[in-house]
Amino acid sequence: MAEIKCIGILTSGGDAPGMNAAIRAVTRSAIFNGFSVKGIMRGYKGLVFNEIVDFRSQSVSNIIQQGGTILKTARCKEFSTPEGRKAAYENMCAAGIDALVVIGGDGSLTGAGIFAREYNIPIVGLPGTIDNDLGGTDATIGFDTALNTIMDAVDKLRDTASSHERLFFVEVMGHTAGYLALNSAIATGSEAAIIPEMNTEVDQLAALISTGFRKSKNSAIVIVAENPATGGATGLAERVKKEFPEYDARVTILGHIQRGGSPTAIDRILASRMGHAAIEALMEGQRNVMIGVENGKTVYVPFSKAIKHDKGIDRDKANLVKILSI
Ligand code: ATP
Repeated sequence: MAEIKCIGILTSGGDAPGMNAAIRAVTRSAIFNGFSVKGIMRGYKGLVFNEIVDFRSQSVSNIIQQGGTILKTARCKEFSTPEGRKAAYENMCAAGIDALVVIGGDGSLTGAGIFAREYNIPIVGLPGTIDNDLGGTDATIGFDTALNTIMDAVDKLRDTASSHERLFFVEVMGHTAGYLALNSAIATGSEAAIIPEMNTEVDQLAALISTGFRKSKNSAIVIVAENPATGGATGLAERVKKEFPEYDARVTILGHIQRGGSPTAIDRILASRMGHAAIEALMEGQRNVMIGVENGKTVYVPFSKAIKHDKGIDRDKANLVKILSI
């Protein structure tokens, strides 16, 4: 394997709080270990269109507390084509980059796997997404901050829900996965979580209305994972209007507010550990792996496993929401 001298970093896909902490950790750990570092702007776009800058230790000063990503992020259609990846490879070689650290979600890691195989490049991924939908890691960078943002918003909504005795459907992100919905339902004491993983099993809305609302409960908050297949919270509220008109159902879609804000301590620490682990992985000769943390231990997860979407939902947590909302 060719010796690695220079490591390029990029952030890709949706931004997530903690990406900056990860950029800082990758940069500082790389410099500490004698590598030079290049920042690649706007995800894969920066490789395809040659927006690559030199990074020094000071380039990542004062960013650990900032949401978003100083490297910017983008979706890049061109990188999904062989011609786009060829341009990316040529630019990467011209900049002297020998290895990449890619911070992003499943699409970004899918692209990383394809690029690594095609050009035999060492690439290590970091799970940067609020959705927590990557396999092989208990949490992704940004998940905890998003959870806390949802918790603050729902705590506020509860005041209105209980004052007006209303049923609120609160839609949260998740990219068709229910981790944010299920965990925020527990954290906010919500009456239910409606998640895509359980849509095929039962009519969650009918079950909720028939058994979920005690007569003594005059208001309720139901956390709904975004889901284009069912129309998410809006789709559910429309169904309630038709099928259960006795309820006054309202919808709140939290939207991009969930992506922003200063990362929590948990996300900063996770991103710092993972960023450092990415450099250690490259020094050990690892390639085509994502850094995960499972049961407190750092693990190397093959890209193919990370993007498989087979993590499954925690049934005990789903039960907990039901038990604690009686
Ligand atoms: P999030 O989970 O926050 O949406 P993501 O990483 O899944 O983040 P995507 O938009 O799916 O976000 O992917 C980011 C980028 O990764 C794409 O714009 C594209 O450049 C690249 N990418 C995704 N899938 C592929 C693929 N099959 N081949 C090559 N590149 C890809």
